[in-house]
Amino acid sequence: MNQPYVDKLDGVEEDVHPIDKWLRTDMLPHIWCPGCGLGIVLNAYVKAAEKAHIPREKRVVVSGIGCSGRAAGYLNQDSYHTTHGRPIPFAAGIKLARPDLNVTVISGDGDLFAIGGNHFVHAARRNMDLKILCINNFNYGMTGGQSGPTTPLGAKTSTTPYGCYEHPLNLPWLAATCGAVYVARWTTLDARRLRDSITEALMKKGFCFIEIISPCPVGYGKPNKIGSGLDEMKMYLDKWDMRPPNWIFEESSNPRDAEIDLGKPIIVGKFVDIQKPTFLELYWQIIPHREEKIPVREAEKLPRWGRKELPRK
Ligand code: SF4
Repeated sequence: MNQPYVDKLDGVEEDVHPIDKWLRTDMLPHIWCPGCGLGIVLNAYVKAAEKAHIPREKRVVVSGIGCSGRAAGYLNQDSYHTTHGRPIPFAAGIKLARPDLNVTVISGDGDLFAIGGNHFVHAARRNMDLKILCINNFNYGMTGGQSGPTTPLGAKTSTTPYGCYEHPLNLPWLAATCGAVYVARWTTLDARRLRDSITEALMKKGFCFIEIISPCPVGYGKPNKIGSGLDEMKMYLDKWDMRPPNWIFEESSNPRDAEIDLGKPIIVGKFVDIQKPTFLELYWQIIPHREEKIPVREAEKLPRWGRKELPRK
C-alpha cells in the first residue's frame, strides 16, 4: 500500500505518485517551466523501462546540456549529466565498458545535433547499442530561445526575430541515412505511442533514435505567438492537422518526407525497424582476443596497455 507523501512546500499529505520511486524527489520541484513537454518524456521513459522489465541496476541515462539535461538529475537510477554535446560519446564509453547495461541518452536537439552532431553521425554509423531520445523544441530554450539546427524555416526565435532563414535538419532522415536500426518520431501529445516506442527501442539491440517534438512555451511558443504549452499541444492536434485521417502514421513512411515545414502536417510514426550487427558484435567477431594469442606468462609481465605491442603468435 502506498505511503502518504508529505509535500515539502505546503505540508499537504498526498498519495505517492506511481513514478515517485523512479525520481529523486529531494531534487523537486523541478526547474522546467509550466507547460514544458520534458516531464511527459521523463514519464514515458520511466514507464517504458518498467514495461521492458529493465531492472534498476541495469538502467543508465546520460544527458547533455540544456533543459532536457536535467532529466538525468531527476531520475533515481544511475544517470550522468555530461558536458555540452557529449552525451553520446559518454554513453558509448559506458556501453563499451559494461555491455550488459541498457544505456539511454535523453537530450535536446541543440545538444545532440549542433555541437554533438558529429558524435551522433558516427555512433549511428557504428550501430552503437544506444537509445537516443531527442527532445526537439526547435530552439535553445535554457539559454534564451536562440535558433538551432531544427528551427523551422520562417519560425521566430530570439536570434531570428524576422523568421529563421536556415533549412532545418530532418532528424529521422539523418538518423536513417547514418545507419540507425530504429527511427521514430512522436510528439508529447502521443504519450502512449511514445511510451510504447521507447519500450520497443529499449528492447532492441543497436542504435535506436526517437525524436520527440515537445512544447517550449517560453523559448518557442512566445515569439511565435502560439501561447501556453497546452496551446502548443493543441497546435500539434489542430493547426498542423495531425488527427486521423490527416495524421500520417505509417510504419513504412519514408523518413525523407519527414521534413518539418510550418503550416504542413508533421509526419509521425516509426520509419525504420531493421536488424544488423552492433559495433560490439562486429568487434568481438572480427578482432581476435589478444590475451588468447599471447603466451600467458609473457602477458602477465606487461603493463595493461603494453599488451598490444606483443607480436602475434
Ligand atoms: Fe521547457 Fe522551454 Fe522552459 Fe526549457 S525553456 S524548461 S524547454 S519550456
